Amino acid sequence: MNSYEETAESRSPEEVKGARQPRKKATAVVTVDLCTGCGICATVCPTSCISIVESELNFNGVSYIDRQRCTGCNICVIDCPWFAIEMIYPDGTKKEPAEYERQLQKQRGYR
Ligand code: SF4
Ligand code: SF4
Repeated sequence: MNSYEETAESRSPEEVKGARQPRKKATAVVTVDLCTGCGICATVCPTSCISIVESELNFNGVSYIDRQRCTGCNICVIDCPWFAIEMIYPDGTKKEPAEYERQLQKQRGYR
């Protein structure tokens, strides 16, 4: 038995499953007070998890994000002209704008 087989056999299925879980990701959150309901975020979201819903805050409505379906791609954050969307990690901390830029460059193949 080689060292690879020993490692594979010594780990339970739960341990293997746990090791493959993705890193906790940030998801998009709207500050409705800043949202004008322009709909740009809903148009650009690749998973169509943003919709514009009626609101007393303005005539156009405001953005609503289904965070369960958000992949954390940052596109809505980058494209919102009113800086009304932020990326929030599960522990409540905010993703820094420099991280958006790095992720965008990676997606576009610049690094
Ligand atoms: S792009 Fe920004 S301002 Fe426009 S609907 Fe989305 S969150 Fe609101
Ligand atoms: S981060 Fe990406 S997937 Fe999530 S709501 Fe924004 S555009 Fe949609």
